[in-house]
Amino acid sequence: MQQPTPKPIARPRPRDRTARAARRVPPRTAALAGLTALALAVTASASTGRLMAETPSAAGSTAQARPTALGPCMISGDLGVQMPEGIPTGPGYARSTGTVRALNLMIDFSDAPGEGSALDRLGEFFPQTTDWFRTSSYGRVDYRAEAPVQDWLRMPKPFKKYGIERGAPFDPGYRELVDDIVAAADADVDFSEYDLVNILVTPNAGPSALDTVLSVTFAGNHEAPVADGVPVSNASFVYSRQDDGSGSYDQTGYRVLPHENGHVFGLPDLYTQDGGGAVGHWDIMSEDWGAGNDLLAWHKWKLGWLDDTQVHCAASPGTTEHLLSPLAGNGGTKLAFIPLTKKTGYAVEVRTQAGNDEAVCRPGVLIYRVDADVDTGRGPITVSDATRDSGGCTRSPNVHAELSDAPYTPGETFRDRDAGVRVTVAGADLEGNYRVHITRGER
Ligand SMILES: [Zn+2]
Repeated sequence: MQQPTPKPIARPRPRDRTARAARRVPPRTAALAGLTALALAVTASASTGRLMAETPSAAGSTAQARPTALGPCMISGDLGVQMPEGIPTGPGYARSTGTVRALNLMIDFSDAPGEGSALDRLGEFFPQTTDWFRTSSYGRVDYRAEAPVQDWLRMPKPFKKYGIERGAPFDPGYRELVDDIVAAADADVDFSEYDLVNILVTPNAGPSALDTVLSVTFAGNHEAPVADGVPVSNASFVYSRQDDGSGSYDQTGYRVLPHENGHVFGLPDLYTQDGGGAVGHWDIMSEDWGAGNDLLAWHKWKLGWLDDTQVHCAASPGTTEHLLSPLAGNGGTKLAFIPLTKKTGYAVEVRTQAGNDEAVCRPGVLIYRVDADVDTGRGPITVSDATRDSGGCTRSPNVHAELSDAPYTPGETFRDRDAGVRVTVAGADLEGNYRVHITRGER
C-alpha cells in the first residue's frame, strides 16, 4: 500500500457527527412537552424495542458460553450511555460476523443532480470497504455490498428542503428522507434481506467535507420508517468526498464508510471535540481521513473478531506474563485486559505497520484506558503516550502526530500508581511477538 504524499495541513479535518443511536433512556422525570417531548418519546420506546431475530447483535451468539475467567474484563456501562464501549454489545445493532449484506442506494436531487454514474459513486467505496472489513476481521466478516438499483434514485424534493445539516436529528428531516428513499426503491428492493443500509449521496449535495462533514449513521434506531416489514434501523449516510487534496483520495477516500458502518455495529466515536487527541490514528472510529488504519483490539473483541481464547484477562493480584502477537496478523493472543472497575480497565495490544495499519511509525505495545461509562464522542478510550510531548514520528497528513509514537517498546514501563497497575514490555522476538509483564496490587 502506498503512503499518500506527506503534506502539512493547517487544521484537523472535521469529523462526522456522533451517531444518533435512538437507544437513549430518557430521564424518568422528563416532562413530555413540545419538541423535546417528541424526541424523548421516540427514544423511549426505541430503547425498549426488541431485536429482530434476523439481526443478532455482535456478540449475542457467543455471550452465553463465555469462559468465566473473562468475566471481570467484560466491562459495561450504565444504561444511559447511548453507544457504550461495553461487552457484549447491546441488542439492535447489525450483526458484525458472518455474512453481512449491505444495501447500497445512491441518491440525488433536482438541485443536486448526480454527476457521472451512480455506479461510479458506489465505486468510490467498493471493493475497498469490503477488503477493509475482511482484513480487519481476519475473514470473519463476509461483507456483501449489493446495489439492486444501479441508477441514481431521484428524491422527490430538492436537497435543501430536507433541512439536512451537521447535527440534524432523525426527526423530521432524516425521517422524511428515509421515507422518500423507501418509496423510491421499494419496487426494486426487499429491505428485509439486508443487515444494513448505505445511502451514498451525490457528492454535490451539501457542503464540501473540508468545511463540514455531514456523514452520519443512525444505529439501532427501531423508530425508523418500516420497509418490507422491518425498520430501516441501521443506516449510514455518506455525503461529499473526504478529499484532502493530497492526491490520495483514490486510496483513502472510502474510509468514511467503514467508520460509519462501525456505528452500525455498535462502535462509538473515539474522537472528541479536540479531534484525534485521545486515540490518534489507532482506530478508524478516531480518525478516518488519511492513511489506512485498523481498529483497536478492544473493538475487535467487541465485534466478535477475536476469540475469547485470544484475550487474556489480568484480574488477579501479582505479576502475569503475556505473549502478545501483532494485531494485524492471524492467530495468537491479541489483547490483555486489566479491569479496574466493572466499567473501566486498561487494554494492552501490539501494533505494527501491517494489514490495514499503514501509518505505524513506532511499532510496539499500545496501552489505553477503556471507560464503558463515557459516551460516544466524549472520549470513552484514551491512549497512553509512551513518549509524551515528542511531537510524534509521522508527518503523514490527517494522522494525529503526537500519538503516532505512543506504543511502548522493550524495556519501557507504563504505570498507574493510583490503580496499582504496572505494565512492562519485557522483550520482543523475531516473529514480532512481545512479552509483557502485568503487575497488579502494587502501590
Ligand atoms: Zn462517527
